[in-house]
Amino acid sequence: MNNDELLRRDLAVLWHPCTQMKDHESLPLIPIRRGEGVWLEDFDGNRYLDAISSWWVNLFGHANPSINQAIRDQLERLEHVILAGFGHQPAIELAERLVALTPQPLTRCFYTDNGSSAVEVALKMSFHYWRNHGQPRRTRFISLSGSYHGETLGALAVGDVALYKETYGPLLLEPIIVPSPDAWNREPGERAADVAERRFAAMEAALEQHSGEVCAVIVEPLVQCAGGMRMYDPVYLTRLREACDRHNVHLIADEIAVGFGRTGTLFACEQAGISPDFLCLSKGLTGGYLPLAAVLTSDDVYRAFYDDYTTLRAFLHSHSYTGNPLGCAAALATLDLFEQQPVLERNRQLAAHMGRAFAHLADHPHVGEVRQTGMILAAEMVRDKASREPYPWQERRGLTVYRHALERGALLRPLGNVVYLMPPYVITEAQIDRLAEVASAGITRATTD
Ligand code: PMP
Repeated sequence: MNNDELLRRDLAVLWHPCTQMKDHESLPLIPIRRGEGVWLEDFDGNRYLDAISSWWVNLFGHANPSINQAIRDQLERLEHVILAGFGHQPAIELAERLVALTPQPLTRCFYTDNGSSAVEVALKMSFHYWRNHGQPRRTRFISLSGSYHGETLGALAVGDVALYKETYGPLLLEPIIVPSPDAWNREPGERAADVAERRFAAMEAALEQHSGEVCAVIVEPLVQCAGGMRMYDPVYLTRLREACDRHNVHLIADEIAVGFGRTGTLFACEQAGISPDFLCLSKGLTGGYLPLAAVLTSDDVYRAFYDDYTTLRAFLHSHSYTGNPLGCAAALATLDLFEQQPVLERNRQLAAHMGRAFAHLADHPHVGEVRQTGMILAAEMVRDKASREPYPWQERRGLTVYRHALERGALLRPLGNVVYLMPPYVITEAQIDRLAEVASAGITRATTD
């Protein structure tokens, strides 16, 4: 079996996600035979360094021996069981450990089976909480411009990335969108924290204006990932927590992408010293192995649903694969790795190295900014450096970087004009240096007219 043969068969039957399939008339589609550590290998034997952790899910490398073993062991015992009316050890143990790891007052864990469905659960639970408290007029959500929370209809509605959302607009709930604290929007002389403070006024105004109709504010803490790896200062979250308390609305932290050490702390909210009312986790939760998600919430929320059956106050949401035992086993093995190894410490060193390796790109005539939060680093290509005028999306400059990287054995998958790195934590400094070379040359190629 080789690439060509699989490619032909693939294109005959598959419909790939987030893809204009016609692109593959000219763009290589790459069938992967196996993975090991940071490497992916195709059927012709070419290797690609997975610099984006396969859509930000992989933490400890492909085919990680201890996660593999944990899944094998679980497989011998129980592959799956309905989680309504039944339970199992991995689901219980994982909930116990997540509750212990996450900040007070998160004491309850509700499982789903992907990130978008975790967001749906948080939105529905918040709405339903207020309804159970006799406030059914609360039906709205506040979110930030440039945010992304998934692509099922509810999650898509509270996001704000036009590419994914615009077409489906007529089907969606209408959120209240306030300007993001994204530090890219800083005025000359402003620091990231100043932008956050300045932008917070709009959040405060929205909370004031929509008092009594808002269920929750939903944010991606510190990094708006799919919106272009846009980053903001933690002070925004500190202020937001205080304002949500004052206005009596929930705070939903979508840490699906930034959780599990991506930003330098285990959870991004820790950097603001806050706890949300709902914490959505997925992606890295299973080390990048299996679809699983968890929504952590408080006893206060849990109690709002706890009553006699006939009051019909119970939370109604069910996915067939809720709390799948194999996924939970992979997640437990992932948490073991965090416990057994100095992961966050090592990440700090790797992050510092990433910063050094990519620093020179800040001087590139078509890079508007190199920004970084922990293990996420992004370089944004611009047409004009001084004004930060973007390249029109139709020019697809990022795609040139993507092609360039593939030819050189790296998987970089820019978001529009934003070239970024979100690598597995088992990457080495030498591999980071190599990625910096590939990214720089790719950016030069993509921006040379
Ligand atoms: N929220 C955030 C912040 C995400 O980055 C993503 C996935 N990119 C999601 C939600 C949706 O997760 P999933 O793709 O598992 O549905």
